[in-house]
Amino acid sequence: MNKIAVIGTGYVGLVTGLGFAKLGHFVHFVDFDQEKINKLQNQVLPFYEPGLREIFLDKEVIKRVSYSSEYSANLTESEVVFICVQTPQKDGQVTNPNFLYDALTSVKKFIKESTVICIKSTFPPTLLEEVEMKNLDVSNLIFNPEFLREGSAIFDFNNPNRILIGGSNQENLNFLANLYKNFDSEIIITDSTTALLIKYLSNAYLPMRLSFVNEALQIGDSLGADIPTLLKGIGADNRIGKDYFRPSPGWGGSCFPKDTKALEVMLSDKDLNSPLLNAINLSNKEHIEWISEKIIDLSTSNSKKGVVLYGASFKENTDDLRDSPTIELQKILMSKAKKVSIFDEFNVGLENSINNIKEVNSSLVVLMYPTEDMQSIIQILQRNKNIIYIPWENRIL
Ligand code: NAD
Repeated sequence: MNKIAVIGTGYVGLVTGLGFAKLGHFVHFVDFDQEKINKLQNQVLPFYEPGLREIFLDKEVIKRVSYSSEYSANLTESEVVFICVQTPQKDGQVTNPNFLYDALTSVKKFIKESTVICIKSTFPPTLLEEVEMKNLDVSNLIFNPEFLREGSAIFDFNNPNRILIGGSNQENLNFLANLYKNFDSEIIITDSTTALLIKYLSNAYLPMRLSFVNEALQIGDSLGADIPTLLKGIGADNRIGKDYFRPSPGWGGSCFPKDTKALEVMLSDKDLNSPLLNAINLSNKEHIEWISEKIIDLSTSNSKKGVVLYGASFKENTDDLRDSPTIELQKILMSKAKKVSIFDEFNVGLENSINNIKEVNSSLVVLMYPTEDMQSIIQILQRNKNIIYIPWENRIL
C-alpha cells in the first residue's frame, strides 16, 4: 500500500483520495480552504456526492486519512502527490493556471526528490511551456486527466472507461501505471500533450453530441415530428448509438462550459478556424434562448402566471451549481418579465417542494433533466391537474 497526498479536496480530490483510501492506501489531504478542512476534520462532507459519505465515514478509511490546510512535513512521506485544484476558464484566456502553479510551488518545498507529482486537474497543453519557464520541472510531471462524472463519481473512480497517463519520465509513468494496475480498465500511456488534449477533445465531443440532439429537437419540434421516435430512429444506428443522446434545456456544469471555451482559445492561438468546435458553446447558448421562448409560449397559452424550474443543478444527484443551465434559464426568463422559481431536492424534500409551493398551481413546471425518480415526480405533478410539465424523457414540449 502506498502513501498518497492529494492537493484540493473538491469533487475530484476528495473522490480520488477517499477512493484510494478505501482500497487500503494512506492518504493525506491538503486544501487551503480552512472551512473545508474544518468540516472534513469534523466528519462533515463539504458537498454531496452519492456514496461518498459511506466511504468517508468508513472506520477503516478514517484510520488511513488525514486532512490539513497547511503544506507541511506530512508531504515528505508521500510517494505520490495528486494535484486536483481547480483550473477555471478566464474570459479571453486559455485558463487560469494560478491555483495549479501555486500548488506545485508549495508541494515542491516539502516532497522528496523521488516523489511523483501527478496532475489530475484539466490543464491546457498550450501552457506546458509556461510550466517549464516557471521552473516547475515539467519533464518529471505526470498528467493523469480525470474523467469522473459528478453524480456517479465513486462508480467512475472504481470503473473508469480508461486510465490516461501522460509524461516523459519512464520511472514515474511506471509508478502510476502500477498504482492503477488492479483496476479493470485499459491504461493508455502517452506523452503529456496527447494526454491533456484527449481530455479537452473528449470534453468537446460530449457537449457537441448533446447540442446536436438539442438542435434535432428544435427542427423536429418546428416540423411537428414525434420527437422520441425521431431520436430513437437516429440513435438506432450503431455508428451513432443511443447513449448520451437525449435532449435537455441546455448543458452546463463545472467542466464542459469552461473546457470548451478553453479549447476555443487554444484553436485561435494556433490560428485554426475549426467551425465545428467553435460552435459548441454558441449552439448551447442559442438553444437555451429557444427553450426560453418555448416556455414563454407554453405558459402564456395555458394562462400560467409563473414558471417553476425543477432541478437547480446541471444534472441529477449533485449539488454543484457551477454553470448551471437552470440559473442561466432563470436569468433569461426573468429578463423577459417572467416570475421564475427554482426548486431542487437538495434544498427542499421532493414531495414537499412541489406540494408546498403556493404558486405552483398557477405555474408552468419545467423539469430541467430526467431524474431517477422521474415516475414519482410525474405522479406528483399529475395529481395537481393544473400543472403542465415537460418531461424530457417521455414527451418533449
Ligand atoms: P473544486 O473547485 O471542487 O475543488 C478544488 C479544490 O482545490 C478547492 O477545494 C480549493 O480550495 C482547492 N485549492 C485550490 N488551490 C489550492 C492550492 N494552491 N492549495 C491547496 N488547495 C487548493 O474542483 P473540482 O471540480 O474537483 O475540479 C478539479 C479539477 O479537475 C479541475 O481542473 C476540473 O476541470 C477537473 N475535473 C473536474 C471534474 C468534475 O466533475 N468536477 C471532472 C473531471 C475533471
